Amino acid sequence: MSKPILWIVIPCYNEENVLPITSPLFLQQLKKMIGEEKISDKSRILFVNDGSKDRTWDIIAELAAKDEHFIGISQSRNRGHQNAVLAGLMEARDVCDITISIDCDGQDDISAMDKMVDEYLNGAEVVYGVRSKRDTDTFFKKFTAESFYKLLNWMGAEVVYNHSDYRLISSRVLEEFADFHEVNIYLRGMVPLVGFKSAIVYYERHERMAGESHYPLSKMLHLAFDGITSLSVKPISIITGIGTIVSLVGIIGIIWAFIVAITGQGQPGWASTICIVCFLGGIQLISIGVIGTYIGKIYMESKHRPRYIISEKTWEPYERHYKG
Ligand code: UDP
Ligand code: MG
Repeated sequence: MSKPILWIVIPCYNEENVLPITSPLFLQQLKKMIGEEKISDKSRILFVNDGSKDRTWDIIAELAAKDEHFIGISQSRNRGHQNAVLAGLMEARDVCDITISIDCDGQDDISAMDKMVDEYLNGAEVVYGVRSKRDTDTFFKKFTAESFYKLLNWMGAEVVYNHSDYRLISSRVLEEFADFHEVNIYLRGMVPLVGFKSAIVYYERHERMAGESHYPLSKMLHLAFDGITSLSVKPISIITGIGTIVSLVGIIGIIWAFIVAITGQGQPGWASTICIVCFLGGIQLISIGVIGTYIGKIYMESKHRPRYIISEKTWEPYERHYKG
């Protein structure tokens, strides 16, 4: 069996300060694994330029000219982190056996790739990189990140705790992933949907080596909202639930107004007004919830996700076909 070909996929957006520092580290790690005969020499480091406005693409082109292990693709404009990673993974899936996606800022421990590849060689098709601690993050970042995971899970989007976009995915899983046709993508929540055997590798997260984060609070909130609404229709069932509660309260309100009216304490017309307000409020919310449920189903249908994915067949035992 020949050695697997690994493509490391790295999204880059306005990273001219950090690329010259981290690119040699990525190359060093790749060459180390090639030297240890873990992976094929055909392995590559793929930079995805996400419509940067600085010298990022020039730097990538220079790197590619210097060492054949460096290659790059450029998106026609900035489309965001998730789309940049997806573009890289889709470019890689036909030509390699495994991909590892990682940010280019050196925050994620590059040496954890050793363990990821080991897990793959032990049979895992997806390996999630999970932060062991968040010491380098500020209290605020830690708090917002933790609330973010809790909210996502509560809302029905299944995500791995403390896992960002540092992960190994085999080309076999990517083949299946390509059948997820949705446009609003949230990789962290979508990869678990594909299934297959997975493993977790813990690593320490460091400070950014240079440059600045592109994820201020506003973008993080946007990502959280996007993640929830892309993966789950739970917000709609919450509306239906609130509608039911409001209706129940409305019925109590109607009974109360009725009692007030027959005991002759209320103003004329008051009881009927309250009855109509309570009744309509509840009915309207429930109706919105019911209509929303249909819209939610249309939304999920419109994604054209695969309805099943087969991982094994008794008459065709799956064997890793290394493209080496
Ligand atoms: N990134 C990208 N497109 C964007 C924003 C960010 O490709 O529109 C890349 C960025 O270059 C980096 C990764 O996504 O490699 C994560 O971004 P960043 O480090 O700014 O986020 P943080 O680690 O602070 O959450
Ligand atoms: Mg970062």
